[in-house]
Amino acid sequence: MGKKVLIVGGVAGGASVAARVRRLDGQAEVIMFEKGPNVSFSNCSLPYHLSGIVENADSLVLMDPLQFKNQYDIEARVNSEVLKISREEKNVLVRNVETGEEYTESYDKLFLSPGANAITPRSIEGITSKHVFTVRNVVDIRRLQSYLLENEVENVAVVGGGFIGVEVAENLKMAGRNVSLIEALDQIMAPFDYDMAQILHKEMMDNGIDLILSDGVKAIHDSEVELASGNRVKAEAVVMAIGVAPETSLAREAGLEIGITGAIRVDHNYLTNDPDIYAVGDAIEVFHKLTGKPTRLALAGPAQRQARAAADHMYGIPHNNNGVIGSSVVRIFEINAASTGLNEKNLKAAGMNYDFVYVIPGDMVGLMPESQPMHFKLIYEVPTGKILGAQAIGKGNVDKRIDVIATMITMGGTLEDLKELELCYAPPFGTAKDVVNFAALVGLNILYGRYRQVPVTKVRELVEEGAFIVDVREPHEYSRGHLTTAVNIPLSQIRNRFDEIPKDQPVYLHCRSSQRSYNALLALQNAGYDNVVNIAGSYLGISLYEYFNDVKLGREKIVTAYNFR
Ligand SMILES: Cc1cc2nc3c(=O)[nH]c(=O)nc-3n(C[C@H](O)[C@H](O)[C@H](O)COP(=O)(O)OP(=O)(O)OC[C@H]3O[C@@H](n4cnc5c(N)ncnc54)[C@H](O)[C@@H]3O)c2cc1C
Repeated sequence: MGKKVLIVGGVAGGASVAARVRRLDGQAEVIMFEKGPNVSFSNCSLPYHLSGIVENADSLVLMDPLQFKNQYDIEARVNSEVLKISREEKNVLVRNVETGEEYTESYDKLFLSPGANAITPRSIEGITSKHVFTVRNVVDIRRLQSYLLENEVENVAVVGGGFIGVEVAENLKMAGRNVSLIEALDQIMAPFDYDMAQILHKEMMDNGIDLILSDGVKAIHDSEVELASGNRVKAEAVVMAIGVAPETSLAREAGLEIGITGAIRVDHNYLTNDPDIYAVGDAIEVFHKLTGKPTRLALAGPAQRQARAAADHMYGIPHNNNGVIGSSVVRIFEINAASTGLNEKNLKAAGMNYDFVYVIPGDMVGLMPESQPMHFKLIYEVPTGKILGAQAIGKGNVDKRIDVIATMITMGGTLEDLKELELCYAPPFGTAKDVVNFAALVGLNILYGRYRQVPVTKVRELVEEGAFIVDVREPHEYSRGHLTTAVNIPLSQIRNRFDEIPKDQPVYLHCRSSQRSYNALLALQNAGYDNVVNIAGSYLGISLYEYFNDVKLGREKIVTAYNFR
């Protein structure tokens, strides 16, 4: 008789544990409990049902209990909630949520993968109303979609600008509804820094999302939402997506240790403080590879990796727990946005020494009709040049670039390594010196003190204090939109016009994407200028950064017109 393995939770982590155990051990008795009616569904695809990209909600369920039984000899018990763990007796109390019947099931080893719950603060008046929804499983998405269709809902408020909120908002808009996205912070998508997030804000606004930042929901009424600012937003349906809290009730009650982040504490093998109980997925606390601190990470890839590692450990198979770095990607209408590692906000909070480059090269050879600018921010440790994080936004394959950086981070790579990284190239795919190589070169130039830069976030200050700014684009580009105080001296003329550029004050340079201004900067440095500074991000970056703030905050423009291409 093989060992008896029980699993709580039948989706990303739980189903992966079950499948791995079976692959390793033909004799084990494997029972997976899922309180909902479905196991093994694609949580990540749920929002796409709202637009009809995933037409049939049934297809969100990847495998049913019968398939688990027939294909893997795994017993998947749906509508079965585990109510209690008795560690002494080594059993769990289970309730059939349909019949109310309760029974105990003993285990040799227990795996917890109960996931996380959507946060719905009771302090918000009206939060329990029937037109307030969360999106966590197939039942939720069916319920939301039927409500929207049956009530012919036109206006929906989505609360929370994280991955789920943004994807839900996008898909509701694609279905033709009026969508307000309400976020309490001053930006959506926390993995991105404020400068990069402006590009996402613009995309949301360009696609007709009513984007409301720095405001929270105070009360939900029948057909409107009341905000902390006193403003009101029309909404006959509300989707709450302000974040998730790890599901720890079973673990707490059983006396399993909870970590400082509020998630279940596990060791490097995903064992809890009970040698017969493992825990994986959204419910656990993980180790951040770069900060060395405990953190939480609600993503499918890590959940599945942890599941495999935990099952392996039970069979004595070693694995290397490298911790997490947090790699993710999202599509927002026409743009793709990916990030990995730490961003500036994380680094400041961790007190780490860093610098960054913001470059906007083409994502493929410019002659290719699909070529698009890619906004790429690469963050590295000072003085080591060790790569700490990256963010990429564009219409092209940002995920490929971020995956390269994720690999670099995982292997402890530096700017020097990234500079030398040999990547595949042909014009429809990239450039001979890929975006990531290019970012490394710029980073090395800055790290080694070959030149200095200021970020786009500082440009307003420069304009307001009357700094000497040279726009080195051609006159026809300048005439289409420029910084109100910038002087136009194109790169093609700069060597003959040094006399127009003062030597006794700092000179700030920009072009469209910082490449020509970098060459202009070198020309000036070679001509004896010792206080020249490049504006990272240049006019494309400035336009994107300023646009949202100008439109939303109604502040005075520092550009004559924006230029986004
Ligand atoms: C809408 C949405 C979109 C997402 N998109 C992405 C994405 O694009 N990329 C990405 O990497 N991640 C994404 N995620 C996150 C990803 O789905 C989760 O990180 C992953 O599913 C976590 O796996 P898990 O096993 O810990 O939890 P889950 O997959 O959530 O499974 C936990 C299951 O346990 C069950 N359960 C809880 N308590 C009990 C109990 N006491 N008894 C029985 N059953 C119980 C729950 O009902 C639940 O079904 C998304 C999540 C959502 C909701």
